[in-house]
Amino acid sequence: MKSIDVKNLVKSYDAVQAVKGISFAVEEGSFFALLGPNGAGKSTTVEILATLLAKDEGSVTIMGETLDRDDAKIRRHLGVVFQYGTLDNDLTVRENLAARGAFYGLHGAELNQRINDLDQLIDFSSYLDRRIKTLSGGQRRKAEIARALLHKPRVLMLDEPTTGLDPKSRKDIWELVLSIKKETAMTILLTTHYMEEVLDADHVVILHEGVIRAEDSAENLRLAYARDTLKVIPKKGLLKRLDEDNVNYDRVNASLHIPLKNPFEGIELVDRYRDHIESFEIVKASMDDVFLNITGASLEEGS
Ligand code: ADP
Ligand code: MG
Repeated sequence: MKSIDVKNLVKSYDAVQAVKGISFAVEEGSFFALLGPNGAGKSTTVEILATLLAKDEGSVTIMGETLDRDDAKIRRHLGVVFQYGTLDNDLTVRENLAARGAFYGLHGAELNQRINDLDQLIDFSSYLDRRIKTLSGGQRRKAEIARALLHKPRVLMLDEPTTGLDPKSRKDIWELVLSIKKETAMTILLTTHYMEEVLDADHVVILHEGVIRAEDSAENLRLAYARDTLKVIPKKGLLKRLDEDNVNYDRVNASLHIPLKNPFEGIELVDRYRDHIESFEIVKASMDDVFLNITGASLEEGS
């Protein structure tokens, strides 16, 4: 069963075509990552799915409900944390939760019970009665997540939840995302430009300049799009031997980088040329290499 089904989604802002006909499906209960640099079209996609922004073309269903026809039902199924926070800065965390709760007919003892339950997961009781504007970035993000979870949605969408936070808060938020994944049956759609975050996802879609360039599990993407590498410091004669044997290599400063089909091929090569090798290491392909090889761009540089 699909929680989210997107077909040929297109969206332009005046001259800029931000999303150029993308299709993807999110399995119910899965953890789905949309990976891409700045400007890829991640927030545009999230805002359309969240019913905030009108699409130009394509079709979207969320928990079987059709976007543009059943938006009220879709909003009930969805909890969304937007990239730029939308809490009221002059209100406390509790007041923000109460304001949202009122939409869902949640007040009094029932609201307090729900806040207590969320506190078990989020651990935010120490700043529940502080105004948003006095909180740290990580605390605000947790309050945003609490508000998104208030009405027990089936699907949680998080747009770059760790971007712009200090390393300690990033780790905190990431642990919270993983515990939501573990302790609830929710479907999670997350956008990120951090490679390490997609390693925990069940399925990764790589978005670049409004186009899906690849999708699979992180491990399959790594196998398909990046090579492990044997890095050696050569002794005299190695280059000549490699050239004679038609072994491909790149020179990088004082070392040679030899692309491998698998790590065992590295062991064979080291064994074959050991008299000509000063030292070596076998380096696993990284997800950064995957992104670079697929798009020709680095995640940090953007598009
Ligand atoms: P991401 O979230 O992946 O960084 P966005 O969806 O925010 O990407 O943006 C995709 C493209 O659309 C970018 O080129 C961006 O400059 C452009 N864009 C986004 N929002 C607007 C807007 N409100 N008006 C004009 N262009 C926009
Ligand atoms: Mg964005």
